[in-house]
This record gives sequence, C-alpha cells and structure tokens, in this order.
Amino acid sequence: MNRSPSLAAISEPPRQTPVRHLVDVLVVGGGSAGLMAAVAAARQGARVLLVERNGYLGGTLSMVTLGSFCGLYTVTETEVIPVVGGMAAEFTERLAHWGGPREPLRWLQTASLPYDPTLVKLAADELVLQAGVQLAFHCLAVGVLREDQHVRGAIFEGRDGRWACAAHVVIDCTGDGDIAALAGADFEHDPQVIQAPTTMFRLGGVDVARASALNRDELRRHLEQAVACGLNLPRTSGGAFSVRPASMHLNITRVVKDGRAPDPLDTQELTDSEVQGRRQISAYLKAFRRFVPGYENCFIEDIGAQIGVRESRRVRGDYWLTQHDVLNQGRFRDAVACSAWPMEEHGVGRATLWRFLAPGTYYQLPYRMMLPAGLHGLLVAGRCASASHEAHASMRVAAVCMALGEAAGVAAAQAVAAGVMPRDIDTDALRRTLRAQGAILGD
Ligand SMILES: Cc1cc2nc3c(=O)[nH]c(=O)nc-3n(C[C@H](O)[C@H](O)[C@H](O)COP(=O)(O)OP(=O)(O)OC[C@H]3O[C@@H](n4cnc5c(N)ncnc54)[C@H](O)[C@@H]3O)c2cc1C
Repeated sequence: MNRSPSLAAISEPPRQTPVRHLVDVLVVGGGSAGLMAAVAAARQGARVLLVERNGYLGGTLSMVTLGSFCGLYTVTETEVIPVVGGMAAEFTERLAHWGGPREPLRWLQTASLPYDPTLVKLAADELVLQAGVQLAFHCLAVGVLREDQHVRGAIFEGRDGRWACAAHVVIDCTGDGDIAALAGADFEHDPQVIQAPTTMFRLGGVDVARASALNRDELRRHLEQAVACGLNLPRTSGGAFSVRPASMHLNITRVVKDGRAPDPLDTQELTDSEVQGRRQISAYLKAFRRFVPGYENCFIEDIGAQIGVRESRRVRGDYWLTQHDVLNQGRFRDAVACSAWPMEEHGVGRATLWRFLAPGTYYQLPYRMMLPAGLHGLLVAGRCASASHEAHASMRVAAVCMALGEAAGVAAAQAVAAGVMPRDIDTDALRRTLRAQGAILGD
C-alpha cells in the first residue's frame, strides 16, 4: 500500500457540532500543569472543564512515569530549600498521605522528590473532584473556536463523537501546545534541535540497597563496561529511583533517528520511537543483569504507557524565557513561579549535559511567558510555554510546570471575574493570590 500523504485527498462533508459545555475556564490536558490549572481556577470559583485524552490524570507523571519530581528545590552544600510551594507542595503532601516519600533525595548538584506514578492517578482524581472540576476523559482536542484573534473554546473527538466547549478562557496544557497551534499561534519546533525522548521502565527483583549505593558515575562506568562488551546501549548515564521494595525506576533509554531526535509530532516517527524505545529495554535488561551490582536477578516489571517526549512546540509568548534568564537569576515584575532546576540536555550522545545554577540561587518565571503573542482568551502553561530551547531544558520539569499551571488557573479565574482577557488582568492581584495560597514567587 502506498502510504504517501499526497496520494489522494478527500473532502469531508460539513457538519454540525454540538456545544456540550459552556464554562468559564476550559483546561485542555491533565498533566502537571493542567491538573493544577483546573484546580486553581475552580478554587477561585470558576466553572471549569478539564479535558484529557487519557483515562486518568498526571500526564507525563503517570503515563510516561518519572522517578522523581524535579524543580521543587534549590540546594546549597548543607541545605535543600523549596523554590516551588503552593499546590505542588499540597500535591506531594497528598502523595505522602498515600504512602509516598516526603524527604528530598540529593543527587548531582541538585535534589528531587521520588514518587510513585500509580499514586499520582489516585491523588489527582481526588484533588480535581474535591475542587468541583468537571472532567471529560478519552477526548482529544482537534480544533478551536476562534473569532478574529480571540480563542473562544475548543472542539474534541470523544467516544461518542465530536463536540465543542465554549469558554471565557482556554488554558493549553497539552505539553505539545496543540491548542495554541490549532489557533494559529507562533511556535518553535525543530526536530534537529529538540531533546531526545526516553521510554521509562521499572525493573523488579532488584537488591535495592546495593543498587541505591551506586552514584550516577558508578552506574555509568558499569554500563560503559557493557558497551565495551558489545551491548548496544544508546545512553549510559541516567537516573535510578526506588519507591517500592525490590523495584527500581530507570530513566536510561534514548531514542534517536538519523542523528537527531525523532519528531514527536510525526505519526510514523512517533510510532517507530515507541517500538525502538521498548526494544532498547531488552538490551538494558541484559546489561543491568550482567554488569550492574544489585540487578543480578532483575526482570522487567513495568514500561511507561507512552514514550516520554521532552520537547516539541514551544509557543512564542509575550515574553520568551532565555538561557540568560536561567543562568543569571532572572527577575520579573510579573513573576508567578521560581525554578532552580539546571539546564538538562538530552542530546543524541550517550551522556546527558548539565549546566547547574549557582548554589542556593533560582530564577523567576514571568506571567507573560504563558500569553501567546497576538492571541486573546488563551493561556499556555507547562512545558509548551514560551522559552528558548536552552531555557526549556530547565523550566520543563514537573514541579515548575505545576507552578505555572497554578498561576494560569488563578489568572484565568481572575480574568473571568473581572470580565477581561488574561492579558489585561492585574498581575499584582494575581501574585497576591498566589502568595496567599503558598506559592513561592521569590524576591
Ligand atoms: C523521559 C522524560 C523524563 C523526565 N524526567 C523528569 C523527572 O524525573 N522529573 C521531573 O520533574 N520532570 C521530568 N520530566 C519533565 C516533565 O515530566 C514534563 O516536562 C512535565 O511533566 C510536563 O508537564 P505538562 O503538564 O506540561 O505536560 P504533560 O505532562 O505532557 O501533560 C500533557 C497532558 O495533555 C494531554 N494531551 C495532550 N494533547 C492533548 C489533546 N490534543 N487533547 C487532549 N489531551 C491532550 C496528555 O495526555 C497529557 O495528559 C521528564 C520528561 C520526560 C519526557
């Protein structure tokens, strides 16, 4: 069969699409950012619909599975200091009540909080339902309602057909900036530049005490031995986290195509990446069993439901966060979040590149990086917000996406209450509300 997209084109008949929901705030995507955005807006009194293509919340946290929440802290030689608080801190506290870890784990020149991906699904359901957020699962956003430069809602394909939601404010938390792209926003996306994706997996049957005693360099040395013995491992430096007995979560595969990252917005390249990512796991299983202490009897316990895409569209906003901001403690009048996460670059080689911030420092993230340039009625929160490739390498981590989501949700509700567009809200009032709910905005 010829798969060429130019083989033929068909015309679809025009159709009537029912408007099923009319809400104050529509949040598309229920990952780190969307979860917080929806709950934050609802707690301010807005009527909120949260639409998610999966049957559960958490996005990358639960569908890809990560080892730990990054971005919560800045570190000095002696201290681990929170730089993200607010609803992200409330969420990690909820996970702790379900039995998750409370104590940060120090590694390299930073620290993160390990978590159990399954608990995220449970805690997220609880959080949104308690806040009164209406949920629509298994629905994919496929279009937007747009009048001139105003985004007025979105169109979804669900199990029961196509439907629309009209809203005063739409928040794009799709990670890929799907809504912004459908609305015609300007964005950057270049497969020659973006970071490589990773398929996450968990190994069972691990002697966790011995495995955890290895630092990153030691793990890398053992895996380099495996490479020297002929095993084809695309990456030897990676993360290993344990939150369950005998179980280790590994962030170690790396999928590359023709010397660059595969394009996560291309169906065939994404499909091939899923297959390649899973295929790599069998090579890692052999390498861990033979070469890494503590893993002699390990087996594959779990594989993420989806390959982990680190980077795709970055939507150009009123402010474009830069590497200079990240490395020089950027400060902004309209700051809505802080981050101290290093620039973490997963290129195509076997090593990951890190550029750390000075000990104990952080940079701020401005509200304007969530306002897509030239469009009204739309906010973009999470990893698809407005940042250069280099700045994105730092701001994309889960805790920072949560802080941006919380800010976007409060901003959207304040826009609704004031009857204005998100660009025209009083950012001092936004910052006061965020501070009152425990968010850390820095000096
Ligand atoms: C391999 C990998 C490892 C990482 N490791 C860590 C780590 O250890 N710690 C850390 O803190 N961060 C880590 N990150 C980064 C971090 O996980 C993400 O950048 C962050 O979670 C992104 O949050 P988000 O809400 O912006 O997007 P996502 O979590 O991707 O959420 C987007 C949500 O939108 C939904 N969606 C997408 N498109 C549509 C649509 N059209 N219609 C409806 N729903 C849609 C998706 O299903 C998803 O639920 C890692 C990322 C990757 C890929």
